[in-house]
Amino acid sequence: MTTPGEILHRYGIRPDKRRGQSFLTDLNTIHKIAAAGKITGEDIVVEIGAGFGVLTKQIARQAGRLIAVEIDLKLVEILRKELADFERVEIFSGNILKFDFSYISMQYKSRLKVVGNVPYNISSPVVFHLLAHRSAISEFTLMLQKEVVERLISPPGHKSYGVPSVLLQMYAEVEKLFDVSANCFYPRPKVESSVICGTFRNKPLAELTDEVFFSRIVKAAFAQRRKMLFNNLKNAQILEKMSGAEIQSALDEAGIDGKRRGETLSVEEFARLANALKNQLTNGR
Ligand code: SAH
Repeated sequence: MTTPGEILHRYGIRPDKRRGQSFLTDLNTIHKIAAAGKITGEDIVVEIGAGFGVLTKQIARQAGRLIAVEIDLKLVEILRKELADFERVEIFSGNILKFDFSYISMQYKSRLKVVGNVPYNISSPVVFHLLAHRSAISEFTLMLQKEVVERLISPPGHKSYGVPSVLLQMYAEVEKLFDVSANCFYPRPKVESSVICGTFRNKPLAELTDEVFFSRIVKAAFAQRRKMLFNNLKNAQILEKMSGAEIQSALDEAGIDGKRRGETLSVEEFARLANALKNQLTNGR
């Protein structure tokens, strides 16, 4: 097999920092990520940011169909050459944040698996894009910055627990698989990376009256981390029509002490709180 270093050299690839290009050069890690996806011949896989295809080739050997998404036109050209012999691979030139997972899933009549060494500068938007298309996606295996993974898997009460933790865990079961040293990439990133895998739940972890309202309450609860939950809710724009007494009565209904900080609430408690607030807003007066 040609090594990543040889491919870099052959095409004279100069990594573009603005695109978050940090290519995997360690074969062992490439194999480990491909294996972590547990991909079979039944699977339709989408790869985020295929680069010059090191991971793509590994996954292509396992998948029923692989759609490799890459935004950099120079790399798209290289991918087309490098993967010319792989019949089940389709190169999609474009922005992953505009990629219509739902349409592709409908086309193949199958939920998709998503894999990738995600460009670090768009890691949060990627996670939110996957969440928006979660009904089209079954599982994901992603390499992200270590601290981003810590945030996504964090339990309540930790300093890394925040909006992304609650929103992702509401809809997905997530697990950190392993860390990857900065030495496994070219160019060497300043931070360590980790691989996270997740399965989107068939139903949210807790029942929600209104999913959009739920996300806005979660964001409001974390608006000022050091403030009490009650005060953050009192200042929330989405609750501007509610009096302090009404907010208090929703907190009572949900059985949550307003003196707590938002970061101590579990995902289920956030759901109870959002449902109670929504109920107060619609039926309260
Ligand atoms: N998978 C390769 C490359 C990872 S680097 C490897 O592991 O070696 C991240 C890749 O994502 C780069 O190739 C970069 O060009 C691409 N990329 C950056 N922003 C993107 C976007 N918005 N949509 C699709 N690809 C993107």
